[in-house]
Amino acid sequence: MERTDTYKVKGMHCASCASIIEKTFKKQMGVASVQVNYTTETAKVTVDPTKTDPERLSHSIEPLGYSLVIPGAKDMGKSEDEHAAHLGLHQGKEEKLAELSVMLATVRIAIALAVVSGIAMAWDLFAGLQVVPIMPDALKSSLGLIMPLLATYVLFVIGKPYLLGLYRFFRYGKANMDTLIGLGTTAAYLYSIIVTAFSTALARYVDVTATYYDVVIVVIAFITLGKYLETRSKHRTGDAIEKLLNLQAKAALVVRDGKEIEVPIQKVVHGDVLVVKPAGKIPVDGVIVEGSSYVDESMITGEPMPVEKYTGDMVVGGTMNTTGTFTFRATKVGSETLLAHIIAMVEEAQGSRAPIQAHADKISAIFVPIVLILAFAAFGAWLLFGAATLGLAQALSYGLVSFVSILVIACPCALGLATPTAIIVGVGKGAKEGILIKDAATLQRLEGVKVIVVDKTGTITKGRPEVASLQDLSGVSQDRLVAILATLEKRSEHPIAHAIVSYAEARGVAPLPLGSFEALKGEGVKGVIDGTEYFAGNARLVERLGLLIDTRTLEEGTKAGRTPVFLATKEKLLALVMVADVLKENAKEAIARLHALGVKVVMLTGDDQNTARRIAAEAGIDEVIAEVLPEEKLRVIERFRSEGNIVAMAGDGVNDAPALAAADVGIAMSTGTDVAIETAGITLLSGDISKLAKAIALSKITMRGIRQNLFWAFVYNIIGIPLAGGAFYPVFGWMLSPAFAGIAMAFSSVSVVSNSLRIKAKSL
Ligand code: ADP
Ligand code: MG
Repeated sequence: MERTDTYKVKGMHCASCASIIEKTFKKQMGVASVQVNYTTETAKVTVDPTKTDPERLSHSIEPLGYSLVIPGAKDMGKSEDEHAAHLGLHQGKEEKLAELSVMLATVRIAIALAVVSGIAMAWDLFAGLQVVPIMPDALKSSLGLIMPLLATYVLFVIGKPYLLGLYRFFRYGKANMDTLIGLGTTAAYLYSIIVTAFSTALARYVDVTATYYDVVIVVIAFITLGKYLETRSKHRTGDAIEKLLNLQAKAALVVRDGKEIEVPIQKVVHGDVLVVKPAGKIPVDGVIVEGSSYVDESMITGEPMPVEKYTGDMVVGGTMNTTGTFTFRATKVGSETLLAHIIAMVEEAQGSRAPIQAHADKISAIFVPIVLILAFAAFGAWLLFGAATLGLAQALSYGLVSFVSILVIACPCALGLATPTAIIVGVGKGAKEGILIKDAATLQRLEGVKVIVVDKTGTITKGRPEVASLQDLSGVSQDRLVAILATLEKRSEHPIAHAIVSYAEARGVAPLPLGSFEALKGEGVKGVIDGTEYFAGNARLVERLGLLIDTRTLEEGTKAGRTPVFLATKEKLLALVMVADVLKENAKEAIARLHALGVKVVMLTGDDQNTARRIAAEAGIDEVIAEVLPEEKLRVIERFRSEGNIVAMAGDGVNDAPALAAADVGIAMSTGTDVAIETAGITLLSGDISKLAKAIALSKITMRGIRQNLFWAFVYNIIGIPLAGGAFYPVFGWMLSPAFAGIAMAFSSVSVVSNSLRIKAKSL
């Protein structure tokens, strides 16, 4: 028996930490799979619990400076939500702010020191250009004493994480970004200390006036600042979850012993009757038992118009009542509510890995060792080729500068952040719009969709058909015909059946006693009334019975977009009912948008050929496949796929589940409240087809963001490393100061995260 758990990981500093932890876990016995996410700082592990346990896993990474947060025995009685909160899976706002304020305090000190050494650096520089007077000797010599002290403080106190990275490298052979920075700054520091200490002895070989204390200070200061900015933005990428969590009501008004009492939300149990006052928040999911109101469900479905709710209607926890008052019975509480499911799904999706990330991961894995080699190679090259032309002292100085700059400018972090930050923002933005995405892979696939197959009823049309006409074909009384039809259809779930049953109710016709009953797939229904077997269904059914249809009257209705329902016995036709379903208001516009996105729209339906054609023409649909049996829907999807298209299928998620599963991307269109989420790759939380185009637009925007991020992260390193190494010196005389390398490095991660945050502001 394997089990999968997600743990919060402590001590992660960079994307390469994720791959180090993954590798270490995979070497452990009993570990089937591992996914470590740097952005959410979590590890999802599937293990054989007889062979290993979380403590053992945590032990394996502790020497490397990480640990798992393992819920202790005292946490066992906690609810699922409390567990999640404890694990920090949705780290609270206070925690995040506390983390940030600690970082900010450090940044302030570091930047202040960097400014001091920056001024000293600049003064020297400008004095050399004779812009400012030369620094007074007293100041110069006291700076000569102060700088080593400041650098020592910055390296050993503020730069501690980087020294630890260096220590881990020597002790365990594992390197990450911290190692690079640790090695670079330590090298600059040690060189400067040695030069200062032995200046007289070394004066013959090197330029003893050139020390790099300021480099140590400025590099660490800027990298610390960069980390702070990165963390601050990283928190902002995840604020969709926080907003969802905030939707949760804290308390509920429960009727107990005839009295309304306020209880904390955790105390609400199944079957409780709850009161919702005007402008009150609906605490959990349930069904209205008394009263009615308009409910604003926009926070869940993204639908701006409040929805009218009566007795018997579902309400969803986290939505807002408007002006009415009603009571409802709780049907889902705690982790079963729709909101809880949405939060879990968004969290899961945000932590999942997009296939495109594999490229970045491959490079990240070899990045650090390659940079180490390059840094040493540059140092060696300066000594080897530089000494002859520049002299040993100058070559050594440039070699050291190159060595430090390469280590500092190389940024695996930007590569590691490129994909997950964009996915987090994209998935979160979707959730806000009522577009739930199952995982990053689905979002990536959605971008390439060329064909969308849509269901007719309920997707293109409103799915609430009405009886438009009833034609007597046999001379039986109208009421008798309606009674027989209603009796048969009462047992069916098809929207057509609902239309006929409400038609009978409106006319006050009561159903008859029904003997045996059977639903005929793709055709209609049959049942026995008063010893006679009756059939109600489409033309296919009538043809199978061998009865003749007057095609003229039939086509009159179907060509107007109406669906025919025949009532017949085995011997003859009794009646023809025409049922009309209207196009959704925004269907035409939504399909035009899909066309603009380069997607072909195919309508798939079991309905009559003429009816379907008419509806499709009205909506502007490209291709119609009508009169298909339910099991054939799957084959239609497969056919489009075999033609090399990436195919999405949008359907109601319950009846169309097999077809949704067969498509590259299954899109479940829910009616808003009773949602079977988790079945499809994408769930649209209001049965609104305009969301189809929005979902595709979102995937395109997110994927574009990822590509930009990856591009800039690569380009940055490809240009930055040779520049830092002095590769352009022989031609242009360009030499990058390690201080600028530190600034550039800090900027690269921040710019990737900021670019991801831009996705949030894009309109869909
Ligand atoms: P769809 O959901 O696209 O309508 P179905 O396979 O559910 O596809 O139904 C195919 C056709 O069978 C319907 O369009 C309708 O003509 C007929 N049909 C199905 N159920 C009923 C019913 N209960 N009463 C009358 N006709 C029905
Ligand atoms: Mg159907």
